[in-house]
Amino acid sequence: MDSICNPCSRRNCVSKLTHWCSDCEDGLCEKCLNDHKVMKMTQSHRIVDISEIPAANLKLLSIPQCERHPDCREDFLCLDHDVICCHACIKSDHNDCKNVSNVNGLSKGASKSELFIANMQTSQEVRDSMNKITEERQSVKENVTKQQQRIKMEIANTKSKFMEHINNLEKVLIHELTNIEKDNRMLIEEEMTDLRKTIKEVEEDENTLQFVADHGSESQLFTLLTKRRKKHDNILKMLKKNTTNV
Ligand SMILES: [Zn+2]
Ligand SMILES: [Zn+2]
Ligand SMILES: [Zn+2]
Ligand SMILES: [Zn+2]
Repeated sequence: MDSICNPCSRRNCVSKLTHWCSDCEDGLCEKCLNDHKVMKMTQSHRIVDISEIPAANLKLLSIPQCERHPDCREDFLCLDHDVICCHACIKSDHNDCKNVSNVNGLSKGASKSELFIANMQTSQEVRDSMNKITEERQSVKENVTKQQQRIKMEIANTKSKFMEHINNLEKVLIHELTNIEKDNRMLIEEEMTDLRKTIKEVEEDENTLQFVADHGSESQLFTLLTKRRKKHDNILKMLKKNTTNV
């Protein structure tokens, strides 16, 4: 949209536009606005202050021009081709078309038309659906986060239970090991006591035998040897058994 007043530019002068007349599709300066307001024909036109229109919407108000003929408005609808175009296009491309209409005539009441209402309804429905989908996605996202936290906690719990189990197992094993070691030690100590006792007995027997050999008669020695033979054999047997065990 040009930022100059259209009626003024048609009078060959330049003034800045401040308002927009939707019915004339014209930009108006302050002076032309006042003229517009007093003329019977234009009194009831819908006029908006340009400063109240968001910048992004301004270009929507400019008059649609034909792309091929930039000087011409797109004033015609050819239903045969389903296109909107200018009178030059109609002349050159749609000479034989049967259903050509003037946009001006067709557009009367467009803001109350079924097409407009249906469009707005569809738009509303699409927006509602999109919002619903967005909400659903958001809730899925939150659920995933919650589940992740729950699984992390389960892993931590399992880990601590597992560690507790391992610690208990360690205690039991060490306890058993201590008992085995204690039993073994006691057994070996018992055996050693027996061995020491036997060594002492053998020593005493040796001394006795030596004494009888030195100072007794031969019959005394023979009797002693005979009496001792069985005991002697037992000691040798025990010795043999223990040596093979080692
Ligand atoms: Zn003006
Ligand atoms: Zn007007
Ligand atoms: Zn054209
Ligand atoms: Zn056509």
